[in-house]
Amino acid sequence: WFMGYRNESNAAASDSSSQAPPQAEKFEYQAEVSRLMDLIVNSLYSNKEVFLRELISNASDALDKLRYLSVTNPELSKDAPNLDIRIYADKENGIITLTDSGIGMTRQELVDCLGTIAQSGTAKFMKALKDSKDAGGDNNLIGQFGVGFYSAFLVADRVIVSTKSPKSDKQYVWEGEANSSSFTIQEDTDPQSLIPRGTRITLHLKQEAKNFADPERIQKLVKNYSQFVSFPIYTWQEKG
Ligand code: ADP
Ligand code: MG
Repeated sequence: WFMGYRNESNAAASDSSSQAPPQAEKFEYQAEVSRLMDLIVNSLYSNKEVFLRELISNASDALDKLRYLSVTNPELSKDAPNLDIRIYADKENGIITLTDSGIGMTRQELVDCLGTIAQSGTAKFMKALKDSKDAGGDNNLIGQFGVGFYSAFLVADRVIVSTKSPKSDKQYVWEGEANSSSFTIQEDTDPQSLIPRGTRITLHLKQEAKNFADPERIQKLVKNYSQFVSFPIYTWQEKG
C-alpha cells in the first residue's frame, strides 16, 4: 500500500504546469473549539499518547459506519473492499500517518465535524472544565473524557486530514496548525495523495513529541487499543 504525505513543493510544481491550483478556503473554528485547542496545545497533560487512542477510535467508527451502510448499499464499498487501519511512522521526519478505508467526509462534513464541537465526548469535557474551579483542571479531564480529534494537537503542531467520501467524487484536505484560530480546506489534487475512500491523517509532530514516531512505541500502543477495534490495524509494511 502506498503511504505518502503531501509534498508541498511537488504539489505546487505539478499544479502550476497544467490546471490551476485548487483554492484553499479559510475557516474560523467555533469559539469553543478555539478554547479547546488552546487548552490542548498548551496542556501540561502528560499522557499525550491518548491521541492515538482517539484517532484509532475515529477510524474504527468510520469503518463501522461504512460497513453498516454497505449492508443496504453495497456500492459504497466497491472502490476499496478492504476495511482496515494503517499506521506509518516516519521517525526521521517526525511524522505519523494514520489511514482508514472508512466512510470518509465530504467537504461540508469536514467543515462541520472538524471545526465545531458537536460531538458528545468533547462537549462533556468542556462542561466539566467549566465546572472545575481549577484553571489547570485539564490535566486529568483530557484523559477522563477524551477530547476526540483535537487531541492530535497534544503531539502535533500541524495536522493534515485528507478524506474521500463515497458521496463525493472529490477528495478534500483539511489543514490545521497549533496556535491558529483557523483551518483551511481545499480539494486534494495531488495524485500521490489520492485514496479510493476513507481518511488519512498526517501528524507533523512537535519537537518534544517526535519520539512518538517510533515503530516500537506505536506498535505497543496500538496493541493496547486494538483489542477494542474489530478491524485489522496494520503498521508499516506489514500486510495481512
Ligand atoms: P467523536 O468521535 O466523539 O464524534 P471526534 O472529535 O473524535 O468526536 O470526531 C469528530 C467527528 O469528526 C466525528 O464524529 C466524525 O464525524 C468526524 N471524523 C473524525 N475522524 C474521522 C475519520 N477518520 N473518518 C470519518 N470521519 C471522521
Ligand atoms: Mg472520536
